[in-house]
Amino acid sequence: MTRRLTSGKLVIATHNAGKLREISALLAPYGLECVSAGSLGLPEPEETGTSFVENALIKARAAADASGIVALADDSGLSVDALGGRPGVYTADWAERQWFEGEPGRDWYMAMGKVEGMLAEKGPDTARDAAFHCVLALAWPDGESAVYEGRVGGTLTWPPRGTMGFGYDPVFVPSGFDQTFAEIAPEEKHRISHRADAFAKLVTDQFH
Ligand code: IMP
Repeated sequence: MTRRLTSGKLVIATHNAGKLREISALLAPYGLECVSAGSLGLPEPEETGTSFVENALIKARAAADASGIVALADDSGLSVDALGGRPGVYTADWAERQWFEGEPGRDWYMAMGKVEGMLAEKGPDTARDAAFHCVLALAWPDGESAVYEGRVGGTLTWPPRGTMGFGYDPVFVPSGFDQTFAEIAPEEKHRISHRADAFAKLVTDQFH
């Protein structure tokens, strides 16, 4: 049986304010006091894993060990079937503007273009199936852990469409929809997304 969260503090192993807000809101009904790794001054570990599960566990374990408090981390990204699952754990890295002088930053249009270019190289009949994945990992200070894997399948479209969302949303059309994640209302996206799927699994396992 999976270890259960009891009421009390939970460290959210992220330095991203948006993720902290979203995760705290999702866990609000369950009587947990969410604190961020950033507010505790915890260092960010290097994401050296080769899978979403490994990276989520690295982040949760580092936060639990450093704080002595149970920690929750997430890792997510896009896997494209015809590219052997890439960009996968490198989803954010593909947007890194390494070759420009000046301001560092992420260029999502470039990242989407890179995926599209690789698909185009494989020919016009290449399958365009893809999926967003989200893994949530819980780590307890005594060494126990639990993981929950969420997924939403779909296809990639080109050119990008829509202005809502972030990252690769403008090229991802979830199964059963005609619109991209960047054209679908955020409430609807949050209902069907990979993150919603992973959270539903965590909530079912931990609180029901
Ligand atoms: P990480 O989980 O913070 O390592 O980020 C993984 C990357 O995956 C993000 O920077 C986004 O580009 C991408 N990603 C994850 N979830 C979504 C999503 O819902 N829409 C679009 N891109 C996403």
